[in-house]
Amino acid sequence: MSRFFSGKYESLEAYIPGEQPQDMKYIKLNTNESPFPTSQKVANMTEKECVSLRLYSDPECTALREKLAQLYKVEDENVLVTNGSDEILNFAFMAFGDTSHPFVFPDVTYGFYTVFADVNGVPYEEIPLMDNFKININDYIGLNKNIVIANPNAPTGIALKREQIEKIIKSNPDAVVVVDEAYVDFGAESCIPLINKYDNLLVAQTFSKSRSMAGARLGYGIACKELIRDLNTIKYSTNPYNVNRLTMAAGIAALEENDYYMENCKKIEDIRQFTANELEKRGFEVLPSRTNFIFAKSDKISGEKLYLSLKERGVLIRHFTKEKIKDYNRITIGTRQEMEIFLNTVDEIIKQEE
Ligand SMILES: *Cc1c(COP(=O)(O)O)cnc(C)c1O
Repeated sequence: MSRFFSGKYESLEAYIPGEQPQDMKYIKLNTNESPFPTSQKVANMTEKECVSLRLYSDPECTALREKLAQLYKVEDENVLVTNGSDEILNFAFMAFGDTSHPFVFPDVTYGFYTVFADVNGVPYEEIPLMDNFKININDYIGLNKNIVIANPNAPTGIALKREQIEKIIKSNPDAVVVVDEAYVDFGAESCIPLINKYDNLLVAQTFSKSRSMAGARLGYGIACKELIRDLNTIKYSTNPYNVNRLTMAAGIAALEENDYYMENCKKIEDIRQFTANELEKRGFEVLPSRTNFIFAKSDKISGEKLYLSLKERGVLIRHFTKEKIKDYNRITIGTRQEMEIFLNTVDEIIKQEE
């Protein structure tokens, strides 16, 4: 820390993203990227857009917002496009949180929420998951505090039904409920159809996982017009050109080939089922996932040891040191072939343990 760093950040602990090691080629199952490439159109559109890079991007993201509005059957004014969905989540903490408007979220969830709260000086409260790692919706009824729920949750992979989330939204009419749907395309129910019914609902989604575009940094929020207006005030007060031209072109192209991406999601669901079955055969406990990853624990080896041993052998998965989940690992679903290599490597490691 330099002597100039503001005291208000003295105890800020920055978010630690999953490793992106550059030292060698790993089978990369640690940050929930898609194993499938972007569609050809994405490459073509981005290349074409390069000639216009001297010009600023459209701060309103008009064309992309139109496409998203069409896809989700909402109005353009219900959509805000951001630099990854991390940005819209941060905007939500900035816009709706302050010392008298805290945020509430589960104790095991996306690790960035505590950081968004801290960096924006927003107090927060963490509600423990049940012993089976599920969210007890009764814990969130009538709090009238801002709530953020990842649905499906990360890193557990477990999803709530839309009607369960609706109960939470309905019972907290004087606070904002943010539903982070980063993984919703892998088999869960979106809350987007509820945005016209509830003026306190913000849904966040991303191109990073289901649309193979983690490196492009593209996310969006969908909500009633008033909430979107507030979030736009924050956006125009921080970074009006938050989405660059290449990413915007890529996003538009991806939506034109949305079927390709949704088919990939189905493939990943099948490979997920295969992987979960295989791990269970090997004595793992696997939580029921609606995402492109599984959260699993072995009865033969610790979470940390398995993670380290796999890394030594060129397979990267994600291990969290938090006490409650340290026995588990989060394993991104790759191609069938990648998962077979992963499983064979797990077998090798466990054999050595015995
Ligand atoms: C990956 C992820 C995000 C953010 O992804 P972006 O790449 O910033 O769009 C948000 N929430 C959860 C739960 C995630 O796993």
